[in-house]
Amino acid sequence: MSKLTRRSFVKAAGGVAAVGLAGCGAASPSIAGNKAQVIVVGGGYGGATAAKYIKKADPNVSVILIEQNKHYYSCPLSNPVLVGMRDLEVQKWGYEGLKKHGITVVHETVTGVDTGAKKVTTAGGVFSYDKLVLSPGVSFNYDAIEGYDEAATKTMTHAWKAGPQTAILRDQIDAMKDGGTMVLVAPPNPFRCPPGPYERASLIAHYFKTKKPKSKLIVLDPKDKFSKFGLFQSGWEKLGYKGKYLEWVPAGEGGKVTRVDPKTNTVYTEMDEFKADVVNVIPPQKAGKVAFLAGVANDKGWCPIDFKTFESTMAKDVYVIGDSSAAAGLPKSGYAANSEAKVAAAAIIASLQGKPAPMPTYVNTCYSILAPNYGISVALVSTLKDGKITKLSGGLSPMEATPAFRHQEALYAESWYQAIMNDTFA
Ligand SMILES: Cc1cc2nc3c(=O)[nH]c(=O)nc-3n(C[C@H](O)[C@H](O)[C@H](O)COP(=O)(O)OP(=O)(O)OC[C@H]3O[C@@H](n4cnc5c(N)ncnc54)[C@H](O)[C@@H]3O)c2cc1C
Repeated sequence: MSKLTRRSFVKAAGGVAAVGLAGCGAASPSIAGNKAQVIVVGGGYGGATAAKYIKKADPNVSVILIEQNKHYYSCPLSNPVLVGMRDLEVQKWGYEGLKKHGITVVHETVTGVDTGAKKVTTAGGVFSYDKLVLSPGVSFNYDAIEGYDEAATKTMTHAWKAGPQTAILRDQIDAMKDGGTMVLVAPPNPFRCPPGPYERASLIAHYFKTKKPKSKLIVLDPKDKFSKFGLFQSGWEKLGYKGKYLEWVPAGEGGKVTRVDPKTNTVYTEMDEFKADVVNVIPPQKAGKVAFLAGVANDKGWCPIDFKTFESTMAKDVYVIGDSSAAAGLPKSGYAANSEAKVAAAAIIASLQGKPAPMPTYVNTCYSILAPNYGISVALVSTLKDGKITKLSGGLSPMEATPAFRHQEALYAESWYQAIMNDTFA
């Protein structure tokens, strides 16, 4: 990344950054115009929503969103991209909508957070904050599987952060010969999007069934069960994937992968080895790197928070939302990140106004597509009870449903996507 001069940096930040720049001769935010300054790090489902809802709740608060990329590629509905059911371009979102709300968007990588001095460092400058929101998503535990490091992802993709990785895996699947073998390595709990690996497996099986019927996907899993387990198992049976196009190997049958060799495209479990044409490794996960820089991640790799506000229990005035937070009772999903962002936004505004945080509710709905006309879902509405996130209502799609019902749920996935993307980015 090019080093920015103070002049070009302020220009890049829309001229407003001077309000929050410190260490560059600018006044601290509290002194400059008495405007409270909120810095949001990460412009994904959590961060973009938080920035928007804080600004909407109080236009007098100065909100700066720091996001390293110019565009955001949505992971939700990126699995259909892998099998040609969807274009990668429709997953791509910009930040113009947020700017229209009066949010200053700065495209920089945050390289340091000083929670004592309340400062955030980027290559281009240092920002002071009154309140800091961190929503950096996940980072990968590259030391967990021998042989799997960042360099390996060039050929053995993770495709667990949408964008260029999605395109590589899509092209590998497309180029694979009929009669080929693909291996998908599923991650251990907890990880982003609990049903995601199994939606991916379903759609690849659908692709093989319809386009390359001599091919097979082997899913190697360090777990014996996963989200929407019964619905996936029954769908795989009904759609004719099981055994023929898709083989799922659970932990109990030796599914845990211990080593990979990217040079030979070989995956090793404790008992076996699999040489494949295409290998997709979804690695074990932890909070985004910036959470560690800020010192708000615990020894398990996630960020403990007060469930009522999402304020870190390790640093005052720092709020951690989305995948990085240890929000027991909520899945690591885009919808949950969006919901947590609204809880944190309301708590931040209340705190800036010297009021108590309002009582939160949290929502999540997640659709999984097993075939173009076959969708399943899970829904959850929760509240805070005895200091814990507690389920109020929700549940899974019925185990027995008509083809029309399953088709409807696949269509709902698209409606859900349009609605949440508009709520987050427009
Ligand atoms: C294949 C797949 C399918 C999925 N399907 C669904 C679904 O159907 N429904 C659903 O609800 N969820 C789904 N998810 C999960 C969803 O994508 C995540 O839970 C969600 O993105 C979490 O939001 P977040 O804000 O925590 O992180 P992200 O959306 O990952 O955003 C983090 C942002 O922070 C930025 N960032 C990180 N570090 C820095 C830094 N140091 N400086 C500046 N910027 C930084 C990143 O560039 C990124 O833009 C899916 C995930 C996958 C992988």
